[in-house]
Amino acid sequence: MTDCLFCKIVSGQIPSKKVAEDGDVVAFEDIAPQAPTHLLVVPKTHVARLAEATEAGMLGRLFLAAARIARERGLEDYRLVVNNGESAGQSVFHLHVHLLGGRPMRWPPG
Ligand code: AMP
Repeated sequence: MTDCLFCKIVSGQIPSKKVAEDGDVVAFEDIAPQAPTHLLVVPKTHVARLAEATEAGMLGRLFLAAARIARERGLEDYRLVVNNGESAGQSVFHLHVHLLGGRPMRWPPG
């Protein structure tokens, strides 16, 4: 999608600190980290939000990539967050999984 921030990061038009990439997924550091590890794992194909996702395989690969990256970084405990919609906290409308770790997490999230 031409006017999507994360599509531009995926294609390299906008710089990011990429930490992992495979055929389906890119992971990069969040620009405003909320934990010692705060990565965004995004599908290369544009899907605006979880509610619009239709491909189980893509969703599975997204979450498996997040788990693999956490494992590779030695994180045993971590939190994955998907904000779906503006009032749930979504600000970038390209599906992404936040991978947060490296500090204790509270519940419920705000
Ligand atoms: P959300 O609010 O769930 O849509 O998450 C969007 C995330 O993208 C926020 O945590 C932002 O800090 C992050 N973000 C926004 N712009 C960039 C960027 N250029 N590079 C990396 N992360 C970004």
